[in-house]
Amino acid sequence: MTSTDDTWQSYTQRIEELAGRLGLKFHPVDFEAVPDTFMMEIAVYGLPVRMPHWSFGVRYIYQLIQRHMGHSRLFEVVFPGNPGHAYLASSNGLAENVLVTAHVLGHADFSRNNLLFQRCQEQVSEHIVEHAANHARQIQQAIETHGVQRVEAVLDAALALEQHIDVDQSLRRARYPEYLEDKRTPEEDDFRKRFAQLEPAAASSGIEPKKRAPVPPHPERDLLWFVAQYAPEMESWERDIFLAVREESFYFYPVFATQIMNEGWASYWHARLLREADFVPQQAYVDAIKCHSDVVRPIAADQQVALSINPYHLGFAMWEKIVESEGLEAARDIMIQDDDFAFVRNHLTRELAEELSLFRYSARSDGQIKVLEQDLTALHEAILSPKYNFGAPSVLAKRVRNDGTLELVHDYALDGRGLDLERSRKVLDYLQRVWRRPVQLTTTNQAGLALELTAP
Ligand SMILES: [Zn+2]
Repeated sequence: MTSTDDTWQSYTQRIEELAGRLGLKFHPVDFEAVPDTFMMEIAVYGLPVRMPHWSFGVRYIYQLIQRHMGHSRLFEVVFPGNPGHAYLASSNGLAENVLVTAHVLGHADFSRNNLLFQRCQEQVSEHIVEHAANHARQIQQAIETHGVQRVEAVLDAALALEQHIDVDQSLRRARYPEYLEDKRTPEEDDFRKRFAQLEPAAASSGIEPKKRAPVPPHPERDLLWFVAQYAPEMESWERDIFLAVREESFYFYPVFATQIMNEGWASYWHARLLREADFVPQQAYVDAIKCHSDVVRPIAADQQVALSINPYHLGFAMWEKIVESEGLEAARDIMIQDDDFAFVRNHLTRELAEELSLFRYSARSDGQIKVLEQDLTALHEAILSPKYNFGAPSVLAKRVRNDGTLELVHDYALDGRGLDLERSRKVLDYLQRVWRRPVQLTTTNQAGLALELTAP
């Protein structure tokens, strides 16, 4: 089989035309075949040109995006936008590249039409790859001016907090109002006026000094924004790094929050486009179908707990079922409206869960398999719980004390998850270096006791 060359390029356009005829609506995608080493680099750094930092290799959310497609050996590197960017390994064969091209068009359709993607992309701009390159240059400049150690300290803190954003708020959010709102109601005002007429000495209402609002006025989820805006003595170049990391987090959030739907949609479309692409030679078609079954293979064969779910498999099976029972039009509506939470809760039915063997099983000693749980809601929650709050513990900024100490609180009840204390200490350490005052975190341990971590 030939490696990536004109043959694959010549199919790209025909696959795009076919996708258009089948109703997919997408921004143009720049396909680029690159050496495997370059693929690895993108996989580690998240974006083709991104801020240089040692911690990228272990970063969780990028591992979710920059991954092999399902259980196949194919790399998946797509950046939604206008235009979108897709990278293909030049060592791929024709069949693999045809499959990946079709898959990418499914993603391009999804990210152009899904509302959560639209909302986040409107804010970040569609040119994220170019933006990320600017951020990288900005960091390089900061290193030249302030030295690598200081820049790394800021990046450590910002990247440790990168999942702590609030996408319900605007990317370019204003600071809190500085003063408390005048809470007196008109009735009170009337009363005061009458009272003042009776006793003029008490008529001081108009000249009461305004009261400063507490910071934050309510527990704040967007820690990247909060620290950038309110850290005592933060320098502007440090703030810029925080806001750059935050902007990239806004970009990646929809990829995270729709992963099951989005990978399923792309897999549904690569399968369907392949089926209808009669211009692809028979052998390439057969090879591509083989790749497809690797991508959507449910789980490794020896695994007994089916909950380590392959999102490609789950999403693919769900879309097939939805298109079959409700039609493509209805499926498109769901694709536009939902995120994974709505999608799984509304469309992973008992019937389908049984068909896919998703309920929890455990092997009994006599060799029989026993169903532990048939609770559909529990199954939904088991699938969704790692997705809450961008996959991070729910930690809020609660108060800044007069001496500048920052109080953070972990919402244990909302989370239903404990904190990794070792990691939390490290994060507090990082944070304290840019906050430049003590930082304190309150949480609840598994015994239900309050626990306090402080740095320094
Ligand atoms: Zn994909």
